[in-house]
Amino acid sequence: MTVPTMRNYINGEWVESAATTFGDVWNPATGEKIARVAYGTRGDVDQAVAAATAAFPEWRATPPLTRARYLFRLKEAFEDHFEEIARVLTTEQGKVIDEARGEVRRMIENVEHATGVTTLMCGYTLEDIAKDIDCTGHRQPLGVFAAIAPYNFPAMVPWWFLPYALVCGNTFVLKPSEQVPMTQTKVFEILDQVGFPEGVVNMVHGSREVVNGILDHPDIAGVSFVGSSPTAKYIYERCGATGKRVQALGGAKNIVAVMPDAKLDPAMPSLITSFFGCTGQRCLSGSILSPVGGVADELIAKFTAAAQAVTLGDGLNEKTGMGPVVSAAHRQRVLGYIEKGIAEGAKLILDGRSAKVKDLPNGFFVGPTIFDDVTPDMTIAREEIFGPVVSIVRCKNVGEVVDLINTRGFANAACLYTSSGAVAREFKYRVKPSMVGINIGIAAPMSFFPFGGAGQSMFGDIKGHGQEIFQFFTDTKVVIERWL
Ligand code: NAD
Repeated sequence: MTVPTMRNYINGEWVESAATTFGDVWNPATGEKIARVAYGTRGDVDQAVAAATAAFPEWRATPPLTRARYLFRLKEAFEDHFEEIARVLTTEQGKVIDEARGEVRRMIENVEHATGVTTLMCGYTLEDIAKDIDCTGHRQPLGVFAAIAPYNFPAMVPWWFLPYALVCGNTFVLKPSEQVPMTQTKVFEILDQVGFPEGVVNMVHGSREVVNGILDHPDIAGVSFVGSSPTAKYIYERCGATGKRVQALGGAKNIVAVMPDAKLDPAMPSLITSFFGCTGQRCLSGSILSPVGGVADELIAKFTAAAQAVTLGDGLNEKTGMGPVVSAAHRQRVLGYIEKGIAEGAKLILDGRSAKVKDLPNGFFVGPTIFDDVTPDMTIAREEIFGPVVSIVRCKNVGEVVDLINTRGFANAACLYTSSGAVAREFKYRVKPSMVGINIGIAAPMSFFPFGGAGQSMFGDIKGHGQEIFQFFTDTKVVIERWL
């Protein structure tokens, strides 16, 4: 059976890559090959950057409100095609359709937030900084920006950056994850209808060669990256070496702690979503569950029963509770971590290794898996598994939980369930991760707040979206004036 090959979008046209190597795209629920993606070349990157460079002067001189109007039209177009985007997303990534809808909603919210450019991009002024001298700080776009995206949020993550870069007057090159290239292809088909000037926004599919082409390109001013920590660190270092702005968001090992005074029953749905939503493939997924003190037995019993009730299946089926992981290779990786947990002495109390789904024998499924008696030094308590595997590390008090969190290296998110304001305050004051949930299992900042962690979870200083992103995509030029 022939499958479509994803094409690049350069200078307002759909073009074939010059690549001679290709990757396969799978429907993870059925195990069928559904598309092919070119592993693009440096030549493809050069073409896209040339188009973006040529488009920059006129786009930069386009009034910010006019630039924002393109985004208003884009938002309407996305709304018109909302369900189509969500279905493509689920088909290639595997997450359940309702989560895909939530992701597309968050993608659109970034477009909405970026339209606030006429206030959010404003500079500042002070008269009389000295006798008869005035000072003005102007925010100016810098040229061509690029983003390199991960596989787990194929619709949303590129849009943590793209609309802000554009609305600030920059032009853009996107490289989606080669594992899930169909979603942004669909998104760019919609974008194409909005009629941005040629070259303002471009997309090049591919893998490492495209990434390295971006990192080394002298005409790219800055790079936004989201992915695993080793790649994030590599991107950060290489951008430093080639003199680019960079924001590189990495992996996670998030801890969700439950105090004895937490209200367990109302907490349970959000606890289950935290650990098993997106089949554990979120940078905000719970990975370690830490019952504090005497709550352990009751919490573990309720949590395990709720996990057992999660129904595995094709994400396109509205009744499915949890879809597959993204690929056969990733399934093997997750299974490898389960084996390691057993080998290192953790107690497997729910085993998802042999989970099967009726009529989908070739899907990349792993069932909810829970380990009890995990100690902080075990591999499954230190490394990012990125699957539906929960490590329970019991703690005696909130101080022990904070120590556990602050010794993980990753510092993306941390959550606490409690009824005590004082305990909550101590927790949010002392933990290193930058995204904190109190009685919330997935501490996901919305588009108008910054998204990103600390430690090994974030290389750089300015995070995704939020108000600060306007700083990343502009240079503040200071003009000091005296008129004699
Ligand atoms: P990944 O690092 O494997 O890939 C991300 C991107 O980098 C892809 O576009 C890929 O083509 C490219 N890439 C991968 N290896 C490369 C290399 N050696 N050289 C050059 N380019 C390379 O990440 P992934 O598996 O696609 O995504 C999952 C990871 O992303 C998890 O670690 C997850 O925690 C993280 N993530 C983090 C956030 C956050 O906000 N911090 C959000 C989403 C995902």
